[in-house]
Amino acid sequence: MTEATQEKTGLGNYFVANYPPFSFWKPAHLPAAHAALNASPDAETPLGLYLHIPFCRKRCKFCYFRIYTDKNARDVETYLDALVKEVTLYSRVPLIGGRPLKYVYFGGGTPSYLSAAQLRSLMERLQAVLPWKGAEEVTFECEPGTLQQHKLETLRELGVTRLSLGVENFDPKILEFNGRAHLEDEIHRAYGWARDLGFAQINIDLIAGMVGESWDNWKQCVAKTIALSPDSVTIYQMELPYNTTFSKELKMIGQDAPLTPTLSPPGGRGLGEGGIADWPTKRDWVNYAFDTMIAASYEVSSAYTLVKNRRRTSFVYRDALWHGADMFGTGVASFGHVHGVHLQNVDTWEQYVEMLQRDELPLGRALPVEPRHRLIREMILQLKTGRLDAGYFQRKFGKNILEEFADSFDELEREGHLTRSAEDVEMTRGGLLQVDRLLPIFFDPQHRGTRYT
Ligand code: SF4
Repeated sequence: MTEATQEKTGLGNYFVANYPPFSFWKPAHLPAAHAALNASPDAETPLGLYLHIPFCRKRCKFCYFRIYTDKNARDVETYLDALVKEVTLYSRVPLIGGRPLKYVYFGGGTPSYLSAAQLRSLMERLQAVLPWKGAEEVTFECEPGTLQQHKLETLRELGVTRLSLGVENFDPKILEFNGRAHLEDEIHRAYGWARDLGFAQINIDLIAGMVGESWDNWKQCVAKTIALSPDSVTIYQMELPYNTTFSKELKMIGQDAPLTPTLSPPGGRGLGEGGIADWPTKRDWVNYAFDTMIAASYEVSSAYTLVKNRRRTSFVYRDALWHGADMFGTGVASFGHVHGVHLQNVDTWEQYVEMLQRDELPLGRALPVEPRHRLIREMILQLKTGRLDAGYFQRKFGKNILEEFADSFDELEREGHLTRSAEDVEMTRGGLLQVDRLLPIFFDPQHRGTRYT
């Protein structure tokens, strides 16, 4: 990739979610997945459960997830039955062996699309087979426009500890243009109810660089977020993966940046020809958010996250995942990692439901991850926190990462992206803001330059 194409927001994935890349996961590796599920658990490895709820009111134009906007109540029940069956099947595999769950994560899609009655029934049935009473964290993703007070009361009662609100932006025109279903009023209303109900942690998600974004509006988004005073704020930089409404529109009109309402950024480095901000502008916006939120007593806890009180505000799901925990990913197209093997479920509704109706785990592809690649995976994921503790890798993998990857660290240090001591690595702010662009330097050669999905 040349410097020029790196700076423009072109089509393709930017965010590095896992390693080795998904394109190396294959159905041929499924026997390794089944062997892992039949192994005895490692007592030291925490266990988590991810549940994918694939329903949304409408598809956001930048979304590439496996979601459905056309399912009726009966379809939803069919899916929830399948999900309960999947968790039941997992509860019987030797690798689970009565292990306690450290965390549970309801992601999507839009978990809050489900009604209070559906949620109560789902969670009660799930807990009957795999209780999460002792879990340190139960996260639930919400779209503000789908929340009512009684739904939030139900979630609180059912043990949700961390509520994550997909705000993304506050401006009605930007929300609408990007295909978001919610309105600004709904954000304030939902947040107020959630606060009153005393959830242990409320997170707000924002996206820097939604189509139509401007400096003035971004500053207002940051100010409005601080005014709400959430426990944590997660900020992603807008990307244009393949298979989104935006990317399809672009291909149809033969351009490589989407059409947008004209919102010029005074003092900004510039929006691309069709109106989406380039990467330096998005980094400037996140940098501004970091500085402004730090001044409001937040601390940076990763390339994407700020927390109000680092000692009280943890993110168990993220930290467990980034330290190699086992996680069962349930639901259509979900990803998991167990006993050193990556797993992904089949990615169509029909296959997912049919396999579970036959009492089969709906696994679609897998990859056994060799120890060197497990080390690289944890190293690149932990680098997203802004620091690496070399001692951790020495203890866990018996390797000195500072020697093993000296050339890559040298290069990133020369470019001003990090600093090193004998024991650890610290990303600079500039490095942290573009960490996903830098991480492939640690990939083994066969994994570089491949399509990520
Ligand atoms: S709400 Fe989330 S999952 Fe649903 S379409 Fe929008 S971005 Fe995708």
